[in-house]
Amino acid sequence: MSSDRESGSIDIHAPYDTTNVFARILKGEIPSDRVHEDEEFVAFRDIAPQAPVHIVLIPRGQPPTSPAGIDATHQALAGRMLRAAAEIARREKLEAGGYRLVLNCGTDAGQTVPHLHLHILGGAVLGPLA
Ligand code: 5GP
Repeated sequence: MSSDRESGSIDIHAPYDTTNVFARILKGEIPSDRVHEDEEFVAFRDIAPQAPVHIVLIPRGQPPTSPAGIDATHQALAGRMLRAAAEIARREKLEAGGYRLVLNCGTDAGQTVPHLHLHILGGAVLGPLA
C-alpha cells in the first residue's frame, strides 16, 4: 500500500473526533462561507472547489463519521439531508443544468473529514465519476 494512500486515510470506525475540521466550522472556530443554515444542517462553500459550484452540506452535532455509520436511527436524517441538498441546488440555480451529489466513504473514496457530509457539485459539465 502506498504511503500517499496511508497519509490521507481516516478510520471511519473511530469514535467521533470533536476536533475535526467540520466540528470546528460548526462551532465557528474556523470561518466558512455559509450558504444555508437550519436547526439540523449547515452548508458552506468548499475551500478547494472541484466545480464552479461546490458546496458541502453537513448535519449539526455529532453525526456518523461516514456513510458507513448510517443505521436505522439515521434514516430520516439521511432523507432530510437529500431534500436539503436539492433545495440548496435549486437556490444555486443548478437544477436546469443538473448537478452531482457525492458522499465519500473512507480511504479509497478520498474521504478526509470524519463527519458525514454531502458534496453538491455543479455549474459545468462534470467529468466521469472516477
Ligand atoms: P471529503 O474529501 O472528506 O469527502 O471532503 C472534505 C471536503 O472538505 C474537501 O472537499 C475539502 O476541500 C473540504 N474542506 C476541508 N477543510 C475545509 C475548510 O476548512 N473549509 C471548507 N470550506 N472546506 C474544507
